Amino acid sequence: MSHPVSVSRNADKTRNPPFVRVYDTTLRDGNQSVAVSLTVSQKLRIARYLSTLGVQYVEGGWPNPGNLAENEFFRQVTKERLQANIISFGMTRRPAVDAANDLNLRSLVESETQIVTLVGKSSVFHVKNVLQTSLGENLNMIRDSISFLRKHGRRVIYDAEHFFDAAKEDVDYAFSTIEVAANAGAEEVVLCDTRGSAYPYEISRLIEAAAKKLDKPIGIHAHNDRGLATANTLAGVMAGASQVQVTVNGIGERCGNADLVEVVGNLELLGVRTGISTAGLRGLTRFVCEVTNARENPQKPFVGAYAFTHKAGLHSDGVAKASEAYEHVDPAVFGNQRDITVSAQAGRASVVQAARKLGFDLDRNDPRVSAILGAVKKLEAQGVALEVANATLSLIFARKLRKLKGSFRLVSWKADIAKRGKGSAARCTMKLSVRGHTVEKSSVGNGPVNAFDLALRKALSSEFPEISKMKLTAYRVRELDPESATAAKVAVHIDYSNGQSDWTAAAVSTNILDASLRALVDGYQFFLWRTGR
Ligand SMILES: [Zn+2]
Repeated sequence: MSHPVSVSRNADKTRNPPFVRVYDTTLRDGNQSVAVSLTVSQKLRIARYLSTLGVQYVEGGWPNPGNLAENEFFRQVTKERLQANIISFGMTRRPAVDAANDLNLRSLVESETQIVTLVGKSSVFHVKNVLQTSLGENLNMIRDSISFLRKHGRRVIYDAEHFFDAAKEDVDYAFSTIEVAANAGAEEVVLCDTRGSAYPYEISRLIEAAAKKLDKPIGIHAHNDRGLATANTLAGVMAGASQVQVTVNGIGERCGNADLVEVVGNLELLGVRTGISTAGLRGLTRFVCEVTNARENPQKPFVGAYAFTHKAGLHSDGVAKASEAYEHVDPAVFGNQRDITVSAQAGRASVVQAARKLGFDLDRNDPRVSAILGAVKKLEAQGVALEVANATLSLIFARKLRKLKGSFRLVSWKADIAKRGKGSAARCTMKLSVRGHTVEKSSVGNGPVNAFDLALRKALSSEFPEISKMKLTAYRVRELDPESATAAKVAVHIDYSNGQSDWTAAAVSTNILDASLRALVDGYQFFLWRTGR
């Protein structure tokens, strides 16, 4: 029996709105994330990417008199005439100041965006303790600020800060703030779970009530402090919200915002159109990771490297028979692909599929399948995670299938490490057999692994000049049995890249130098084998 996995299978079209406007705030709320600080050119690159993808609203930042970078971004982006609506963001006027004299409101007008999003207070606690003004004056602030922007010809979206907390304190006051905003001319009213502490049923109830009370489209802005930002955003849409505020990869203040990828992915699966192609989401995630210098999360729903990777033998076998057995949706819908890893949990089906991916046709009953499985299980039992060490895994296949020509072999090595002044120096010597000839080279490095790498390059470069293209990008050591203290076994993983592809080699030993050297040799052998040497 097969499970249908079409995109709109679960759609409840009777309740969901047919179309939702996606409002991205990566450049403002996302930029408030710890360890993210976008330059003007990075912001422009992200804005262009979002616009090309079909995002309707792109919030660009918070223009104000003191922030030259923000103002410069708006000056440049408005010249580009992007498809997306670029939005400037700001707060209602200060208490007891005329809107026309409020410098922040004036900066919003000067940013020259057609649409301005204005955030205002809904919470009695905040009005009294943070703004330190009266409840009436807060309502005046909302009304005056929106009227001022409308008078200058701006369209206004109103963000009701802390709305869900505010409704618990004083529901009438919370609703009076958004009624004032709507009457003053805000075209959409967005209810914000600013502390990320609301639950989906609370979101549903209040979005539904606001949609009934106001004659305006309602939006939802959810933070992830309780891990519910995506669920809350979806609950908002199911209850009638027609705008979702999100950031790419969920970056943002504290635990972040609702994630564009998860929200758009789920809405499309539910049959709600967003104007964004799900096939473009993987590229978006990777692009923003690259720009913000963040690591991609391999377990990210829909688009992560492991999102459709099957490890257990039972799963791999099932997927080989019918992919929907262990996949909720076709990976291609998200520009992703299925992967079967070979690990100690793998079965014969995984080995056959992995061999096929490497270009070897192998029958399930071939005795070499057992030999490969045996080698994999032995190495994994020692502590190597082969599903991430693709170079070492491929070499197991190549050796067992007798497809490795043997570009070179390590004969012996020696390392001298000595204290030198305040630091230390390492000299390593390696003896290799390169295509039948013995080559011995030494190198000095800032540490023994670096010295080994340099010696290996020296010894191989005349026979294999192409190794100049590969470089070592990361080196990781993990202790496998910490209770053995300094006698513990360590696993070394080394990542390489040649600019076009990446690969990882791994080895285990009680001697860190021995493990490092074996992982180094695997990394080079894999590269040479793959280039046909
Ligand atoms: Zn926020």
